[in-house]
Amino acid sequence: MSDPTKLLFELIDARRDELVELTRELIRFPTVNPPGEAYGPCARFIGDRLNARGFHVDYVHAAGTPGDDERHPRINVIARREGTSPGSCVHFNGHIDVVQSGGGWTLDPFAGVVKDGKVYGRGACDMKGGIAAAIIAVEALIDSAAELPGTLEISGTADEESGGFGGVHYLAERGWFSAPRVDHVIIPEPLNVDRVCIGHRGVWWAEITTHGRMAHGSMPFLGDCAVRHMHAVVDKFERELYPKLAARQTDMPVVPSGARRSTMNLSSIHGGQSEGPGYPAALVPDSCRMVIDRRLLIEESMEGVKGEVRELLERLAEERPGFRYSLRDLFEVRPTMSDRNGPVARSTAAAIRRVMGRAPEFICSPGTYDQKHIDRVGKLRDCIAYGPGILDLAHQPDEYVVIEDMVNSAKVMALAARSLLYGRA
Ligand SMILES: [Zn+2]
Repeated sequence: MSDPTKLLFELIDARRDELVELTRELIRFPTVNPPGEAYGPCARFIGDRLNARGFHVDYVHAAGTPGDDERHPRINVIARREGTSPGSCVHFNGHIDVVQSGGGWTLDPFAGVVKDGKVYGRGACDMKGGIAAAIIAVEALIDSAAELPGTLEISGTADEESGGFGGVHYLAERGWFSAPRVDHVIIPEPLNVDRVCIGHRGVWWAEITTHGRMAHGSMPFLGDCAVRHMHAVVDKFERELYPKLAARQTDMPVVPSGARRSTMNLSSIHGGQSEGPGYPAALVPDSCRMVIDRRLLIEESMEGVKGEVRELLERLAEERPGFRYSLRDLFEVRPTMSDRNGPVARSTAAAIRRVMGRAPEFICSPGTYDQKHIDRVGKLRDCIAYGPGILDLAHQPDEYVVIEDMVNSAKVMALAARSLLYGRA
C-alpha cells in the first residue's frame, strides 16, 4: 500500500508552479486598506476557484461596517466542502486586505514579480502567500483521498489591517466562526514556517487631553499652558509608570522577547494652535492631546491597565495647580492565548516536525490579529496562526515570500488538517 503522506507531499510538490501563480494572481488585486480597494473582485476570484473544485461558496457583504460604501464594499468569501462522512470542520482564514505600498520599493508592488526563489509584492508575505498555500494544501488534500471525513472551509476576509470589523468580527457575530459549524481554525499569518502562534497581547488605545486657558504668548502668566500640563503627564509616566511596566514579565512566549513585558507607546501629541504659513501663533495653548498605545499581557486585566493610568492623572489633578484632564477610550482588545496542547496546535506542531524535521517553536504575537474575534466573539478557542511568511517583512517595502517556505507550509497545513479531520490530533 502506498504511503498517504508521501502521496500528499508529492501532490503539493507537483503544484509548486501553480502555488506561485496563485500567489501572483492574488497580489495583482490591489486590495489596499484603507480604503478597502478591490475586495469584491479578489473575493470572487477565490470563490470561483474553490467553487470549481466542489466548494459551496458564500459571499458576505459586511454592510454598514467602518469604511463600507458603494465604492468600497466590505466583501468576504467563505467556501465550504463537506466530506464523505461526518467529522470535525477545519477552517483556514486569511485576510485579503493589504496595507498601503508606501515608498522605498524597487519593484512594482502589485505585479507579483518572481525572483531568486521569492515572490515579491505588497501582501506577498502578509498574507496572500499564506492564503495561496492554504488553498493549495486543501486542494491537494482533497485530491489525495477518494474519501475524506469532516468539512474543510477556506475564507478570505476583509479589513484585518484596520481591526477586522468588516471581516472576521462581522462574520463571528453571525455565527460563521462558532461551533458546531467550525471546530478548528488556522490563520496563515506570516509567523515563519516552523512556528505555531497561539495568541497575542492585548491593546488599549486611549486619548488623554489636558486643558489650559488661552492668553497672549507675550504674557503666558495670564493663561495656563496645556502643553506644560501634558509634560507633567509624560514626566509622571517616565518616573512612575514605565519602570513598573518594564518590571512586568509574562509567561506568554511573545516574540520578539522585548515584547514579553508590558509596553506603552506614546503615539502622538498635538498641542496649541496650528501654525500659519511661516509664523507661529502667539497664543498660550488651551488644550493638548496625546494618544497612548498600551499593550497588555495575559496576566493583566483591561480594568487594571486603565485604572493605573487614571490613578496617575487623578494624582496630578490633586498635586498640580490648574491641572484638568479628560481620558477617552479609542480601541481595546483583550489578550488571547489558546492551549498549546489543544488539537490544532498539537497537530500543526506534529506536522512541522514531520515536514521541517525540527521541533516547532510556540510563540505569541506582540500585536493583535483576527484571532481575537474568533476567540472573544465566536467563542472558538481552538485557533492558531501558522503561515509561511517571515514576520519581519510584513508591511515593509519589497515585501516577499519564499517559495520553498510556501511549499513547506502547504505540506504542514495539509497534514495538520488531515489529522484534525480524522480526529487523530
Ligand atoms: Zn496579516
